[in-house]
Amino acid sequence: MDLELTPEHASFRATVRELAQGVVQPMAAEVDRDHRFPDEAINAAAEAGLMGVLIPREYGGAGLDALAFEICIEELAQACASTAVIVDVHTSVGTEPILLFGSEEQKKHWLPRLASGEMLGAFALTEPASGSDAASLKTTARRNGNGYVLNGAKVFITNIGRAAMYVVFARTGPEEKAAGVSAFLVPADAAGLRVGQIFQKMGLHGSPTGELVLEDVSVPVANRLGAEGQGFTVAMRALDSGRIGISGQALGIAQAAFDEARDLMRERGHEQGDDFALADMATRVASARLLAYQAAWLCSHGQPFTRQASMAKLHCTDTAMQVTLDALQIAGDEGARAGSPFERHMRDAKALQIYEGSNQVQRIVIARELLRG
Ligand SMILES: Cc1cc2nc3c(=O)[nH]c(=O)nc-3n(C[C@H](O)[C@H](O)[C@H](O)COP(=O)(O)OP(=O)(O)OC[C@H]3O[C@@H](n4cnc5c(N)ncnc54)[C@H](O)[C@@H]3O)c2cc1C
Repeated sequence: MDLELTPEHASFRATVRELAQGVVQPMAAEVDRDHRFPDEAINAAAEAGLMGVLIPREYGGAGLDALAFEICIEELAQACASTAVIVDVHTSVGTEPILLFGSEEQKKHWLPRLASGEMLGAFALTEPASGSDAASLKTTARRNGNGYVLNGAKVFITNIGRAAMYVVFARTGPEEKAAGVSAFLVPADAAGLRVGQIFQKMGLHGSPTGELVLEDVSVPVANRLGAEGQGFTVAMRALDSGRIGISGQALGIAQAAFDEARDLMRERGHEQGDDFALADMATRVASARLLAYQAAWLCSHGQPFTRQASMAKLHCTDTAMQVTLDALQIAGDEGARAGSPFERHMRDAKALQIYEGSNQVQRIVIARELLRG
């Protein structure tokens, strides 16, 4: 067993770290304070080829693996959690479904522009009445000649208003729950598609999240991703590897909070209680990172990884929440001051325990995998 990064992964991490610390981190506090989209950070990521990490070279991407993807998101999140979630959702659930389920025509049409960052991708599954129980979604896609007409509303969609393409899940058949769901690639400029309410969140202020409204949106059959009725499989597979990205987000936030707490202790002195907290924080981050790397390694090597990705998502995001709370506690009153990095990290960490399957849902997935006969 080799727990060291390969020279290629280590060199990739160094490249992303340089960009993240040089360009992304300096604007993180302002992005949070002003609730503004980090355009400069996303443009720099695109120029460095980070919007197409998982996309094969033949379609204009970097052709790297799931571990490189995790490393990329972790480094970005350490610098700015908002930038990381924008890139993460674009790269994984916003693009990967095309890699995994797309026809050759779909790959040729969408992937080069997604890889270059010319287009941002998004994933539209959640609805007002279906979050964890995603299979009960109500958006419809009615067959009409050579196309479908989509109607419904999605909520809490990351990259809302910025994405040029949404992977939309809608009901095509009368079948109950998962069996009646299909996936569609819907351009943001399709007639009848509009951005509804933009949601204010406690954290991740630079990442736009909101409502996607579909009113008689026509898409050709060529925009259906996978077979009719295969949509739920598309969503669940995308979320499986998406959870590797969320683990990276969580690790980056936790590492940033840890580093700041340690630096503060070095500067101002520390009691033994702080030392114990610091040791626990480091141990939690190190163990969480091993789980994330294992899930990424299994995914990259074509092995089953559903359980490990769920365990990584659960443990990494719980770690981020705990570590950011502990770091703020070490910082004391200055940590609680609005605009301090400590309170930003804590606010940014919370949503990670909720999205791409809440941590209760991860436990359901893990138990189901463990009990499989
Ligand atoms: C910042 C942010 C960004 C997001 N981005 C996207 C996106 O880009 N695309 C998208 O489609 N969605 C997105 N979401 C939605 C997200 O995936 C959902 O919030 C998530 O799936 C949980 O659904 P819910 O919030 O409706 O909670 P609910 O399903 O209503 O659950 C509420 C609570 O009950 C628990 N619970 C639910 N069912 C069970 C059960 N069976 N057993 C035990 N506990 C249970 C949950 O864990 C949770 O604690 C985003 C959410 C946030 C906060």
